[in-house]
Amino acid sequence: MGLSVAIVGSGPGGFYSAAALIKEMPDCKVDVIDRLPTPFGLIRAGVAPDHQSSKKIAKIFERTALSPQVRFLGNVEVPRDVSIAELRGLYDAVVLATGAPRDRRMGIPGEDLGGVYGSSEFVGWYNAHPDFRELSPDLHTGTAVVIGAGNVALDVARLLAKTGEEVRATDMAHYAADAIDVSPLNDIYVYARRGPLQAAFTHKEVKEFGELDNAVTLVDPAVLPGEDVELHDKGRGSQEKNIGYLREYAKNKGDEKPVRIHLEFYAMPIELIGEDGRVKAIRMERTRLDDSGRVTPTGETFEVPCNIVVACIGTQSTPLDNVAYDEKNQRFLNSDGEIEHGLYVAGWAKRGPSGTIATNFPDGERVAQYCKELTPDAFKQGPAGLDQLLADRDVRVVTYEDWKRIEAAEEAGATHGAPRRKFTTIPEMIGSLG
Ligand code: NAP
Repeated sequence: MGLSVAIVGSGPGGFYSAAALIKEMPDCKVDVIDRLPTPFGLIRAGVAPDHQSSKKIAKIFERTALSPQVRFLGNVEVPRDVSIAELRGLYDAVVLATGAPRDRRMGIPGEDLGGVYGSSEFVGWYNAHPDFRELSPDLHTGTAVVIGAGNVALDVARLLAKTGEEVRATDMAHYAADAIDVSPLNDIYVYARRGPLQAAFTHKEVKEFGELDNAVTLVDPAVLPGEDVELHDKGRGSQEKNIGYLREYAKNKGDEKPVRIHLEFYAMPIELIGEDGRVKAIRMERTRLDDSGRVTPTGETFEVPCNIVVACIGTQSTPLDNVAYDEKNQRFLNSDGEIEHGLYVAGWAKRGPSGTIATNFPDGERVAQYCKELTPDAFKQGPAGLDQLLADRDVRVVTYEDWKRIEAAEEAGATHGAPRRKFTTIPEMIGSLG
């Protein structure tokens, strides 16, 4: 008899774990559970819609999903439909791969004003995540402010700067593409609290700011390091390449294209100023770095009038049932992926929100190593027990086969050369199954 494992979450952390488990244990049974009817987590709902090549990894995950050892159970929400304690009673091991879906807060006055969004909700909105269908940000404004200098901040700024034609060719939610198409946005400010050398974004993403149909990217040459400063050229985080692109943008003129993206450094948000419940400006404070590289406010402040602010300052995991949670690091309390005997964690729920998709791969291998040391318990009912429990609770489980039919319907609905027209609500997805 093989081991039975339930994985909660079908994003990269979940699917890399499933792949490692079936590779290491050819007789184990793995159920991958997701609260959405659609698999692959951030591959579908996080990766930018104009970065289709990054989504190709879903084809690799599909090989795992189609293994006779693996099942996908979509539209099953933990703990609404089944609790962690129940899963632990049914399976030999439970793996949490629930990511880091909650936005971190800036912690400044005015954060709850209308027009102020966190990156998870804003990215979820344009990526057709059913939770954010109703966000409806008002893009009828001239100026947007994006806070943060990570790749998510660049995704948001780039997509806001694109033309209707550019975004319609992607799998962006149709309502978001419509909103961007008619938006009069012509100034998008991206604020980093540290300097260009400390930026978290990577060079491939900065490069795209020189390739936009309608937008020109501007950088103040005064913030760039001199030619005498030694720059490292390490992989994705290459300072040399980042600074090379920023130096090019510093030569641009603001009147070259209708939309301007201002990549600004050494400024942090201190207050959002509102009128009638909506943001009308953001107050920023100039910063400098102290001798140990820490952000230090200078006391010099300025205001940027704007009607939309997207804080792309990172995300955190959501606590689940009574699982031990590390409040300081905003993820599940774990020792190299082990929460306790039989309960493991992988991906951003383990490490926090960092790295590329492939960074989650070793987490899956670690989960498999832990599970290899477990002995199957003859009294655990495994997949059959979960099926019974979900049937008793009238849960409409979406299988991988069902997902393939949802996917086919989305692909059939595509227009403008887009790869798919995404359904944007769960009833629409389930409804497409007839
Ligand atoms: P991130 O890379 O950690 O960047 C967060 C940014 O927010 C940093 O610039 C950080 O500044 C800033 N920040 C944090 N707290 C702040 C505050 N209170 N006020 C002002 N600024 C603040 O996070 P992310 O952009 O959400 O990305 C998450 C992960 O996904 C990253 O590993 C990223 O590379 C990856 N990702 C990759 C791609 C891609 O490969 N194309 C696309 C999207 C995301 P400090 O550095 O000063 O702390």
